[in-house]
Amino acid sequence: MDNQELWQCVLSDIELSVSKANFNTWFRDTAIYTREGNAVVVSVPSSFTKEWLENKFNKFILKSLRELNSEIKEVKFIVYTNQENISQNNNLITKKKKQIFKKPENQLQLKVLNKDAENNLNLKYTFDTFVVGSSNELAHAAAKSVTKNLGTIYNPLFIYGGSGLGKTHLLQSIGNNILKQDSSKKVKYLSAEKFSSEMISAIQCGEMEKFKNKYRKIDLLIIDDIQFLSGKEKTQEEFFHTFNALYEKNKQIIISSDRPPKAIKTLEDRLRSRFEGGMIADVSYPDFETRLAILKFKVASKEIILSEDIMSYIAENFKRNIRELEGALNKVIMQMNILGDKKISLNSVKKTLSSESEMPKKIINIKQILKIVANFYDVEEKQLIQRIRRQEIVRPRQIAMFLLRNEYKASFPTIGSKMGGRDHTTVIHACEKINNELKTNNMLAEEINLIKQRLYT
Ligand code: ADP
Ligand code: MG
Repeated sequence: MDNQELWQCVLSDIELSVSKANFNTWFRDTAIYTREGNAVVVSVPSSFTKEWLENKFNKFILKSLRELNSEIKEVKFIVYTNQENISQNNNLITKKKKQIFKKPENQLQLKVLNKDAENNLNLKYTFDTFVVGSSNELAHAAAKSVTKNLGTIYNPLFIYGGSGLGKTHLLQSIGNNILKQDSSKKVKYLSAEKFSSEMISAIQCGEMEKFKNKYRKIDLLIIDDIQFLSGKEKTQEEFFHTFNALYEKNKQIIISSDRPPKAIKTLEDRLRSRFEGGMIADVSYPDFETRLAILKFKVASKEIILSEDIMSYIAENFKRNIRELEGALNKVIMQMNILGDKKISLNSVKKTLSSESEMPKKIINIKQILKIVANFYDVEEKQLIQRIRRQEIVRPRQIAMFLLRNEYKASFPTIGSKMGGRDHTTVIHACEKINNELKTNNMLAEEINLIKQRLYT
């Protein structure tokens, strides 16, 4: 991977983790200037940015770089203003390098960002780095077959599941794979949020035609986190037209969401039925074996040694999602680096991770449960409390009671009083009803899992 690609991956990584405003402020016009042994030298446009990145993002950038290349041990920043005017007090670069650091370098940075703007794909997400287990094999198989039959068999492909379970990874793998097969294909990956904001600014600038044309020329359109369009009628409308235009030309569309189409409440029916007309696959919680396999894979790719019992310990204690599992592993690796440890002991791993694993669950309160349930089902919080008997309210209300009982461990009378002064027998009835239904209704189980995940992450 050359410097340009490397930085591209880091930027994509960072973009996913910080707000858009932050990203634009601090990472615009940055690039890898050079490598010095184990250090990466990043050029930034001002000393203010330099200071900020050093203080706030140093660790993050290093972590991201190291995930791509474990040999990297350090990040340094240098300032360039324009062309030759590289910060005077920067003793990092020799005079000779200063001379090279002129216009071509500036152009390189533009290219880096352009490439990103073109398809938004992060090269680190590939099928090669995706570990398949029972929790994701259907989605993986569907994704693979899309790469072999673009636009023809599973169109659209709709992948759903809780956060941190690999949706973005799978979606981007498809995009990267298609481009690898044929680099002339027009692939575009973007979040539904970005689609929406692009559309709004196109409207504001009177460039809707341009917007439409751009999207209608694409061979593979990947829209991540479509649930964001819930309630946004205008964007849904435009997306529907884009969707149809592509679909009719047998262009591939891939969509992800945190829940199945049925459960996205304010989704226009015609969009929902479009989604349901294709292939729907879920990613669910990885079991222990899959978690262990993922850890083993990541450890192998990082050229470090962790004993079997350490990996089992991590896999056992980080169950909520793969992002956290990875986070725990990275923490251990970071610790090994700091200590210069080649072989870390199980005990020190336990110590390193103790702050997280001792607190498997975030402390939650009643208010949060109600808020999250209301939000999930797109109803108002106060409707859960009020005496409304409409089924679309009764159901979320029962689920809220069920969660208050099972997750918050509140007593039946307490739940009754918090839920608008209801009798405790009503609460018992609600909990039993949900409990019984859970035995046969997979969709409900899935919904409750997703809600729990929101509670704890
Ligand atoms: P989501 O989009 O569902 O929230 P991501 O795709 O962002 O989740 O995944 C979170 C992290 O976990 C990413 O770093 C991703 O590479 C990693 N990951 C998820 N699933 C797998 C998998 N099956 N194998 C390897 N890494 C995975
Ligand atoms: Mg995602």
